[in-house]
Amino acid sequence: MKEIILVKNGELVLKGLNRSAFEDVLIKNMKRHLAETGEFKFTKSQSTIMVEPLSEDVDLDDAAECLLKVFGIAALSRAAVCEKNMKSIINTVTEYLGEELLSVKTFKVEAKRSDKKFPLKSPEICRETGGIILKNFNHLSVDVHNPQLTVTIEIRDGYAFVRGNNLKGAGGMPTGTSGRAAVLISGGIDSPVAAYMMAKRGIELISVHFASPPYTSELAEMKVMDLLKKVAAYCGAIVTFVVPFTEIQEAIRDCCPEEYSTLVMRRIMMKISDIIAKSQNCQALITGESVGQVASQTIYALGCTDCASDLPIFRPCIGMDKDEIVAVSRKIDTFETSIRPYEDCCTVFTPKHPKTKPKLEDVLEAESKIENLDNLIKKAAENAKRVFVK
Ligand code: ATP
Ligand code: MG
Repeated sequence: MKEIILVKNGELVLKGLNRSAFEDVLIKNMKRHLAETGEFKFTKSQSTIMVEPLSEDVDLDDAAECLLKVFGIAALSRAAVCEKNMKSIINTVTEYLGEELLSVKTFKVEAKRSDKKFPLKSPEICRETGGIILKNFNHLSVDVHNPQLTVTIEIRDGYAFVRGNNLKGAGGMPTGTSGRAAVLISGGIDSPVAAYMMAKRGIELISVHFASPPYTSELAEMKVMDLLKKVAAYCGAIVTFVVPFTEIQEAIRDCCPEEYSTLVMRRIMMKISDIIAKSQNCQALITGESVGQVASQTIYALGCTDCASDLPIFRPCIGMDKDEIVAVSRKIDTFETSIRPYEDCCTVFTPKHPKTKPKLEDVLEAESKIENLDNLIKKAAENAKRVFVK
């Protein structure tokens, strides 16, 4: 029996004249995700894309698993292809969905008839198929409102499809359809979630990580790479810049009043990220900040970091509670990696009493105590190590 995957492309259907271009990007992304699974043919048709394996030995379980991580897919389902007559359709329902029908108690049949010449109308297809299912599987009853299994029959031009329940896709927009941004990635819980949330909206990511050896370890850097790999499983490879930050952090420690040191550091992170982001044609920065989470994320502190770059700064976690952020990190499987206990540069030299209501002029005054800061910033950006994470 020939089996294919049908992909429903959620929000893309709203895109009017651009739709075809969006679908092309989606197909390109699907090909990339399926590269190691086998060869497939992709056919666009209304709001679905048909993914057809080109050889017998392709593992469709693997293929479906890969496609569940592709942004821009609202739902997908596997379907059996059969001849366009009721006998073949009913045989296929029994054979292809038999096990599923045995494992549930309620079902309904839906029919979609894009070939209007098919002799039976949709309600007739449903009635006939439903009747035979009830006869063959006499433990079942019909529930049209909340069935455990929906059997869908689609009558297309050359053939019919039979399928069971949809699987929920990753949602969002295809990666690469919403521009490019640089995510500031720490080893914490929030920034990988922020990266995932913006990538889900179709943004292509690069990332910037600040490392301060010997205060931060190689294990901390590996942890960040592991986190990025988890995000890259959704959005594709992430070019990453590891910025040498020790000299700057020591300068902050030695020159700036302690209560402003974290904010000065965060502004410098933004400035370096701004240079790297612009050199990589990014249109925005992304952080995992959330209002009130720590002293450097009060509304006053965020105001002081915001103006360190003239790029828009996206903070998708800004209104989320920690437990909500954790729920996303568990969903995307970054949580267990994030809680590995290595120091981040943000947690070395932390002041005892950071300002929670800083004034920008005082932060700028503190920042001005560092000699040659512009050069240090330029040098750090230039000396960043470039890593390709996938
Ligand atoms: P996370 O926010 O990722 O859980 P965290 O809470 O330890 O880690 P914060 O101190 O809250 O980090 O930092 C706020 C944001 O600043 C992070 O979400 C991240 O975007 C950025 N950031 C912090 N440390 C680094 C770093 N070492 N390299 C790059 N960006 C960082
Ligand atoms: Mg945080």
